[in-house]
Amino acid sequence: MHRSLANLTERIERALHERLIPALYRDTEPVHVEAAHLPGEPVPAAEGLAMAYAPFAVGQPWGPAWRTTWFRFSGEVPARMRGGRVELLVDLGFERAGPGFRSEGLAYTADGTPIKGIEPRTAYVPVARPAAGGERVEVYVEAAANPRFDGSVSPLGDPETLPDRPLYRLDRAELAVLDEEVHALVLDVQVLHQLALQLAETDTRHHTIRRSLELMLDELDVADVSGGAAAARARLSGALASPAVPSAHRITAVGHAHIDSAWLWPVRETIRKCSRTFSNVVALADEYPELVFACSSAQQYAWLREHHPTVYRRVAEKVATGQFLPVGGMWVESDTNMPGGEALVRQFTQGKRFFAAEFGVEPREVWLPDSFGYSAALPQLARLAGFRWFLSQKMSWNQTNRFPHHTFWWEGVDGSRVFTHFPPADTYSSELSGQDLAYGVRNFAEHGRSTVSLLPFGYGDGGGGPTREMLETARRVADLEGSPRVAIRTPAEFFAEAEREYPDAPVWSGEMYLEHHRGTYTSQSAMKRGNRRTEHLLREAELWSAAAALRTGHPYPYAALDAVWQETLLLQFHDILPGSSIAWVHREARQTYARLADRLEGMIEAALTALTGPGSVPLTANAAPHERDGVPALGVSAGHGGDVPAVSVRSGPDGTVLDNGLLRVRLGPDGTVSAIRDLVADRDVLRPGTAANVLQLHPDTPNRFDAWDIDAFYRHRRRDLTGVAKIVVEADDPRQARVRVTRDDRSSGYVQTVSLAAGERVLRFTTEVDWHERETLLKVAFPIDVQAAQSSSEIQFGHLQRPTHTNTSWDAARFEICAHRWLHVGEPGYGVALVNDGTYGHDVTRQPPGDVLGAQPTTVRLSLLRGPRYPDPNTDQGSHQFGYALVCGAEIADAVREGYRANLPVRRHLGGRAVAPLVEVTNPAVVVEAVKLADDRSGDVIIRLYEALGGRARTRLTASFDLAEARVCDLLERDDAEIGALAPVAVEGNLVELALKPFQVVTLRLRPARR
Ligand SMILES: [Zn+2]
Repeated sequence: MHRSLANLTERIERALHERLIPALYRDTEPVHVEAAHLPGEPVPAAEGLAMAYAPFAVGQPWGPAWRTTWFRFSGEVPARMRGGRVELLVDLGFERAGPGFRSEGLAYTADGTPIKGIEPRTAYVPVARPAAGGERVEVYVEAAANPRFDGSVSPLGDPETLPDRPLYRLDRAELAVLDEEVHALVLDVQVLHQLALQLAETDTRHHTIRRSLELMLDELDVADVSGGAAAARARLSGALASPAVPSAHRITAVGHAHIDSAWLWPVRETIRKCSRTFSNVVALADEYPELVFACSSAQQYAWLREHHPTVYRRVAEKVATGQFLPVGGMWVESDTNMPGGEALVRQFTQGKRFFAAEFGVEPREVWLPDSFGYSAALPQLARLAGFRWFLSQKMSWNQTNRFPHHTFWWEGVDGSRVFTHFPPADTYSSELSGQDLAYGVRNFAEHGRSTVSLLPFGYGDGGGGPTREMLETARRVADLEGSPRVAIRTPAEFFAEAEREYPDAPVWSGEMYLEHHRGTYTSQSAMKRGNRRTEHLLREAELWSAAAALRTGHPYPYAALDAVWQETLLLQFHDILPGSSIAWVHREARQTYARLADRLEGMIEAALTALTGPGSVPLTANAAPHERDGVPALGVSAGHGGDVPAVSVRSGPDGTVLDNGLLRVRLGPDGTVSAIRDLVADRDVLRPGTAANVLQLHPDTPNRFDAWDIDAFYRHRRRDLTGVAKIVVEADDPRQARVRVTRDDRSSGYVQTVSLAAGERVLRFTTEVDWHERETLLKVAFPIDVQAAQSSSEIQFGHLQRPTHTNTSWDAARFEICAHRWLHVGEPGYGVALVNDGTYGHDVTRQPPGDVLGAQPTTVRLSLLRGPRYPDPNTDQGSHQFGYALVCGAEIADAVREGYRANLPVRRHLGGRAVAPLVEVTNPAVVVEAVKLADDRSGDVIIRLYEALGGRARTRLTASFDLAEARVCDLLERDDAEIGALAPVAVEGNLVELALKPFQVVTLRLRPARR
């Protein structure tokens, strides 16, 4: 027999697209269209419905970018449609493009009840099924002209730079009868055709399916598709009835819609995207009782509750029936590289508390399919927050190395493990296509040991979530020969089974570094600074408010703190803090950070005023976990001036020398630091012949994803800023000497201040930049003379070591790394830490090339600024200020202390009395990260502390109030036997004895004796 494989494929696809799909709807009837164009921002439905509507015609343009048009569609179901499934079809100008990322609508009844979303792949509104004929139709659609972004520079990301021309055209508005038999036929054909294409020609199943499709096509009367659909389907029934083989891989399919909480649209549009998609989901859940839809972010539920209470009530009903499933338990799907330790805790606790209070459920799986790499602190925090499992898929984006596992134990920096799964189809928005199903099986790394995987399906980002076509597909592939078995189930059902089947899964230890999107540690500098500042102000506000509440009865601002936390957590979303959103999002975020800082300053001032009482004694409040200038950690006192020797300054034509008896620092005529002599250790800190605090500019033109990516070739070119406009030496303060170096370069300006204070081996830097470069990476370099095989970077509640060499492709791929407040390099006996007050990107190299014989230098660089042009064409243009410091002769403990110092300056306050710390901790390895009152408003004090050096630490914690009880609890401040057993506590009077393991995080609940 002759083979004509390609011909049959063409025949099937042409029949599908030109005969079957066009026959899905028969018999149409135009409707009357009117429209009202909103001049500004969206309004509630009641206002939208009440606007003055004017006649509008199909084919007319609508919608300048970001505007809203309300459409009213009215008419009557004609008698001839009686008995049919009648729907209103609306095309808002979708141009046959893919789902999401464009115009969208939400359909309402005449009384303002949301019906469902209108999106490219789900553009219908149900009218009658079956129709009686004569039904009045009145449907309102709130249509949003969300512009499309394609990766090129665009002015559409900011309402201030918008052109005022319509983007879309109303392409369709009519009643139509859905031919359910043709609909079923289309799905039968698609499922079988896609399956056959995935099966090898050596597989007889491939041929039996294709033969049945051929017979179906021979049967089909193209002149009467509708009339012949049932007979055509009969030709496929045998192929569809053949069950999966016993060894078929089993897929848990989970309905989903990945809705980015802001990205190529502002937060206000996300709120509407959620209302559209969730309306679709609850409508679909009625029609398909097997649908399970997983939705992760508590924030998105909170928006729905506030803005669309009727949809929210429907969602709550579906949560109760188990069809709408809160998963993940975080406030948003946050970035996990940059949020601080306490902030990651609050992502979990705020999210889980919301789900518990609203729905009485507690998710057990962390759900982070799309964040840009995963911190090694997460396994412990997830376990301490009551999670058992972790889901992602983003590591499939690695550009260099293939991540080896799909189901595995992920082990964090402290040794804690969480059972983890990556859906092997490498997507979180599958259509359940034959290709996705087969690829997921082919790609799965655990065959032979595990037989199950998970597959989230549904369109995200305004695509509308799962569709009825996906659910029909799921029914067809539930048990189908040649296909994996597909069952719609919950993630928890999947994880429980996967873990049972594969308890000895392999272990991945440490961070999951994403070999992609390395620019997100630096893009949109104000996000980084705002986040860091807000996190530390929150620490202060909670600490002083708790102390004031306990000591003076000052009302603890529970609600205000929750509100600030929730806004801070939203801004940690994986396209906001990383700097990958449009200008509009980042402009609003900058305003939010400023507002939050004001609010927190107010709380701090009120608490300190209550604490210290009336008076005019100059006091110093030290919110840091370390004593500073004679002020105890977490306490308020007058402190002491201290007797420290002065700093000497000597200037000449060959530069300036600052000397405080501990460090002798030489600045060259070009204003760079040309030498640092550590007089205590009697050694040079910098590699001789090099210079530090050198600003370096690289071209920064990644191949794709401008705001996201730094590509390795950026290092091929570099220009050092050594031209000097002015050098000013400030030597009038004997306690601190300063040199200010001003540089002009192209259209940008730089002022670098180098300061050396008396009594410390720390050289401090402030760099102000008036930045007008684009597509340029600005770094500042410190060539340290230590032979370091690895660098240590602060992460949440600990630190992480990464090689400084590039031996393997994994090491080489980490050419830009994230560190929080400090990065440390050292050799036995001597180390140096670079601390910062608001940046995250670093690189550490064995540069510049040293001698062939002997120790190599270690150059540490901070990434300060970039200038990507997409999606915000003006990213980071304007003024910036960076603070950083070089801590010489630093152990890790010094790095930890100086990291806090750089981010948590002491606060001067006039009051009547000093205030003893609420708690004191004796072991410097143990760091108090948070002091707050318990969320249950019992008045209990919560202390969160951790072991910071990576070793074992015993410590005493002394409360300065009478203690009735001290218990170790989980992050949600609940008793948990397993967690309590990990950190034995002995209480004696007001003294608590604790034994901590490496990087262990302990949450203590202290109950005061008297209320
Ligand atoms: Zn995302």
